Amino acid sequence: MADRSPSEIARETLKQLAVRRLAPTPDNYLALYDEIAGVRSPPVFPEGPLQHITRVLPGQTPAQKRLLGQFERAVETRDWSSLQSVMVGYANLGLNPASAEPVAVEATPLAILPEELAQLLARLIDNLLPALGEDDARVHEMAQQLTSFLREPAPPVSTVQLMLGNFTYRVSFATEDQAAIRASLLDLLHMVFENIAALSLDDRWLHGQVEALMAASTPPLTLRRLDDVQRRLKDVIFKQTEAHARTQEAQEQMKDMLSTFIERLARITDSSTTYQGTMERCADLIGKASTIEEIAPVLQEVMQATRSMALDSRVAHDELHELRERTELKRAEIAQLQQELDRASAQARHDPLTGSLNRKGLDEAMEREIARARRRGAPLCLALLDIDNFKTINDRLGHTAGDAALVHLAQVTREVMRPQDLLARYGGEEFVLILPDTPVAHGVAAMTRLQRELTTRFFLQGKEKVLITFSAGVAQLGESETSTEAIQRADKSMYLAKRSGKNRVMAA
Ligand code: GH3
Ligand code: MG
Ligand code: MG
Repeated sequence: MADRSPSEIARETLKQLAVRRLAPTPDNYLALYDEIAGVRSPPVFPEGPLQHITRVLPGQTPAQKRLLGQFERAVETRDWSSLQSVMVGYANLGLNPASAEPVAVEATPLAILPEELAQLLARLIDNLLPALGEDDARVHEMAQQLTSFLREPAPPVSTVQLMLGNFTYRVSFATEDQAAIRASLLDLLHMVFENIAALSLDDRWLHGQVEALMAASTPPLTLRRLDDVQRRLKDVIFKQTEAHARTQEAQEQMKDMLSTFIERLARITDSSTTYQGTMERCADLIGKASTIEEIAPVLQEVMQATRSMALDSRVAHDELHELRERTELKRAEIAQLQQELDRASAQARHDPLTGSLNRKGLDEAMEREIARARRRGAPLCLALLDIDNFKTINDRLGHTAGDAALVHLAQVTREVMRPQDLLARYGGEEFVLILPDTPVAHGVAAMTRLQRELTTRFFLQGKEKVLITFSAGVAQLGESETSTEAIQRADKSMYLAKRSGKNRVMAA
């Protein structure tokens, strides 16, 4: 049967596939074809997959380059035995990287990365990934390959070095991208703030908030500062939305009133025109009348028209009066609303006088910081300070000077303490400081430093240098203590500090 033509063999093969009820797969087809032709076909050469391998084989060192060249030629010429010797060459390179000759095998042991170091590297890469963003899928793919390779038993140093080199190269792009993204987001944020300020020309509170936002969003950025930005921005947005809604509502009401007013005016004009017409007609009739009987009904009509005209005017007058009263009421109501809103939003989370957190802001910050400290097992201190003899400052220099002294204290505190420390106004002349990552001894030291700074940075009232001192208690938050309990302890120590002569700091 060997003399059959290929097309005849192919036809017969298809027929046999059907007769023998074989699945029409390439393998079945080939086996049947060979059987019918009485020959054995050469095995199919997987050129595509091998070319793919060519692209991922390393070719950096001269030895690797040479092997890669051989591999490419072997694929081109479909030479299995050449391929085989290249593979052996690569394997030997792993054993003896310096060897130029794949066959000259020196049985040096393969350098293996110590397991601990491999695990550490894998963890480092895992931890690095979130910072790289999601934009570059390839960098994540490479990280995945590298970490799973590192977690395999006995990873060879040479391969890790190669993979790590490629990965580092790719990471450098990704980090540059992330830095650029951050910088332009910050620019964008500043533009938004400027725009808010430009839109609210007449609102001093908003301008103050926008300035604080600009300052808080200037590098170096920390999560705490961004958090502050977010909170302030919420207040600003709330205030702007309210103000906008209120302006619109006020406009609608004014429009309503204006249209009612015009309607009333039209009615008055209408009735006076009718009245005038009636009068003219009656005067005409009276002029033409020759008897009293003729005049009587005309007079009747005149009286009627006059009465109804008077009635109309009175109604119109009353309505207009009421309208005016309503407008006045509305205006007073809107003014009061504005005042309340100013108060409410200015006091949202920050004390309007000193710019420090208010009680609500303090509660929120405390909750956040306590959770953070507990999560990280870090110490956290709360300090309560009360200005000494503040009443005397007020009595001697006046309430306004007292206010300025509070602003001065808050400003010095912000400058002297670390950026992550938070200041809140707890009451009139009492402040709470949240000191993250601080054991009690350091907390006391920090508060003492603040006291010293206050003695050198005088509060100037006119030409007079006023010395502000305070007494403070510092409590380190206990393991299961609430913030209220810790503040109570700090308060007790502060009281002790007052009792023992003021201007001192005591640990709780
Ligand atoms: P001590 O050293 O014992 O703390 O004495 P003190 O005078 O500071 O304490 P006291 O509690 O007797 O007085 C606090 C004063 O602080 C009374 C109050 O009028 C004043 N004060 C509270 N809030 C403000 C404020 O916002 N502005 C001004 N100017 N004074 C305030
Ligand atoms: Mg007090
Ligand atoms: Mg006081």
